[in-house]
Amino acid sequence: MRHGSRLPAALLMILLQGCRIGANEDTAATAGKRARPAGTHAVMLGTGTPNADPERSGPAVAVVAGGHAYLVDAGPGIVRRAAAAERAGEVALAQTDLNIVFLTHLHSDHTAGLSDLMLTPWVLERDRPLRVYGPPGTKAMLDHLHAAYEEDIRIRTEGLEQANDQGHGVEVHEIGPGTVYEDDNVRVIAFAVPHGSWPMAVGYRFEASDRTLVISGDTGPSDAFDTACNGCDVLIHEAYSSRRFRTRPERWQRYHSSFHTSTDELAVIATRARPALLVLYHQLYWGATDEDLIAEIRAAGYAGDVVSARDLGVY
Ligand SMILES: [Zn+2]
Ligand SMILES: [Zn+2]
Repeated sequence: MRHGSRLPAALLMILLQGCRIGANEDTAATAGKRARPAGTHAVMLGTGTPNADPERSGPAVAVVAGGHAYLVDAGPGIVRRAAAAERAGEVALAQTDLNIVFLTHLHSDHTAGLSDLMLTPWVLERDRPLRVYGPPGTKAMLDHLHAAYEEDIRIRTEGLEQANDQGHGVEVHEIGPGTVYEDDNVRVIAFAVPHGSWPMAVGYRFEASDRTLVISGDTGPSDAFDTACNGCDVLIHEAYSSRRFRTRPERWQRYHSSFHTSTDELAVIATRARPALLVLYHQLYWGATDEDLIAEIRAAGYAGDVVSARDLGVY
């Protein structure tokens, strides 16, 4: 009798465990089942950092609005993660349609996928140049990358592949704070964020007719989100674990506290910015889990809706 009553409990535990793992893979810790947004939304193509975690591609987000994908940053793995999203039903992320990217800053973890984004969709017959918006220095970076592939481009255009001569090109717009792009689907507004010794780093606010999404890029704690988000639908913000930070060597503590934002700091920022949903990305765990990061944010006083993003999460 006693044995019999314990079996269902064990089964229940296994089922609950299974549900929890499923939820983590899908959207995030503690969020449970979250309805997929119907209109404008963000697809997390990479939530990683310079740490080469095979589960997390380099930082890159696609904002999908009006059937078109607007990319933010180009971490390593971006084109393959876009292909994975396309297979999962995000038709706007077809490789040949990847043609516009907004860079937050020029750190290598955010830009090491640029040559992939410049060339792979073209090899697959994208027939228009990649448009790149980014802070000063973006043009020099893209010019060098394009020059590095001169021989590849010559062989593909002049050889038997007969590749088109437009799709490998880049059209660079160096930007500062303010409205940097507008079409029928979105208005994109850049705002300055403090990222250590970088002379300019920006976050982006995407305004569509149905939703407004804000992406922090890499940033130290900033009150820029008071106005950049100001009750926006989704705030995608970087974060590191406040608790595990104390275990880091002093040199790295100095770096992280200058260049990045802790969960304690983000709780204050998000409380003031009032997003309908706060999404943690570019997370630095140092052994913490997604659940730990959420618990730290909660303990620091943030009462709003929050998830810790995984690659291919949709918000
Ligand atoms: Zn970074
Ligand atoms: Zn950075």
